[in-house]
Amino acid sequence: MKSFIAVGSGSKMSDFTLDINTWIDLFPEPMLAMNAQGNIVAINPSGREFFGGSVLNRNLRELVATPPEKLNKWLPLWQQATQMVPGTLQGHQGQKIEVQAVGIHRCQPPLILLRLFRQPRLLGQFIIQRQQFEQLQQQMARQTALIVELQQQQKQLEAENHYLQQISQQDSLTKLANRRTFESRLRLVWQEAAATHTPLAIVLLDIDHFKDYNDTYGHLAGDRALQRVAYAIKSQVRATDLVARYGGEEFVLLLSQAHHDAAICILERIFNHIRSLEIPHASSPVKPYLTLSAGICIATATPRDCPISELIATADAALYEAKRSGRDRYVLQTYAWISGPISQEISPCPSEKAP
Ligand code: GH3
Ligand code: MG
Ligand code: MG
Repeated sequence: MKSFIAVGSGSKMSDFTLDINTWIDLFPEPMLAMNAQGNIVAINPSGREFFGGSVLNRNLRELVATPPEKLNKWLPLWQQATQMVPGTLQGHQGQKIEVQAVGIHRCQPPLILLRLFRQPRLLGQFIIQRQQFEQLQQQMARQTALIVELQQQQKQLEAENHYLQQISQQDSLTKLANRRTFESRLRLVWQEAAATHTPLAIVLLDIDHFKDYNDTYGHLAGDRALQRVAYAIKSQVRATDLVARYGGEEFVLLLSQAHHDAAICILERIFNHIRSLEIPHASSPVKPYLTLSAGICIATATPRDCPISELIATADAALYEAKRSGRDRYVLQTYAWISGPISQEISPCPSEKAP
């Protein structure tokens, strides 16, 4: 069957006519034309695809599961319509088919043009895509939360690591470097001093009669005195020098690039400062204040492994000499690799110093 549609505007009909098949083929969505009884007279490719093959000459009632009484109401309504009338049909799989239909009165016999929508299918796809998108968003949110948690854990680990590193290098009471840090720094400074041919000094400082101090003022007061002395020593050295707690009431200094005069200058500063603090020590036979004794070892580094124990032994021997000769003073010894201690120099006791 061939039907033609006349295209015009207003009341004046155009003589331009179009084969209805050609016309509905222009539409991308499924379109069909049927007569008043619902028999299909034309269908476009999209419509054939929609129904899964050609359904020409078949009746709409066979193609949908919509109850006949409902279709019987729709068909006259659509036929008389001059504007697209929406409706909903039901497919054989139970799916909803959205339609729009209009009567075409300018062709003989009058036809009904039915336009079907794929929207329900698109809507389904859209819902699935939206669910996938939401799932993706949730996954991303979970991953972001995981990354934030990992970053926090990493920060915490770094802080713990830093803390552990600090306590492994530091003395908890005085907050000075500990003996291990001193020894590893000494190895480095020794290598540098060997390369630059500069002398270095190691100094052992020991609080005089500290046992008596504890016995007089108690152990807690002893701890506080240790903290004060540590701070006092640290305040008098150069930024490049290292002050460490060697153990008990003993401290060790590592003075890099320190020749004889520089070492003595730093020791004088420390002794003067401690004296100026006048920390009471009533039971000390030396003075009524807390005093220090020190042994200085001046060494010229050579490109061999740092002889740590020999350097310490030299400083300790000098310290012993300072104690033996009356305390509250320092003794300086020069260390040389082959000959060992080569000279000794005792600082004058303050009381023996010229006023
Ligand atoms: P010398 O002048 O010969 O050095 O006499 P000394 O009493 O200072 O030396 P000794 O080795 O006999 O005693 C050291 C004292 O230092 C004994 C010990 O209780 C005290 N001491 C060591 N470490 C600490 C500490 O961390 N806190 C306190 N309060 N005392 C300490
Ligand atoms: Mg001691
Ligand atoms: Mg002591």
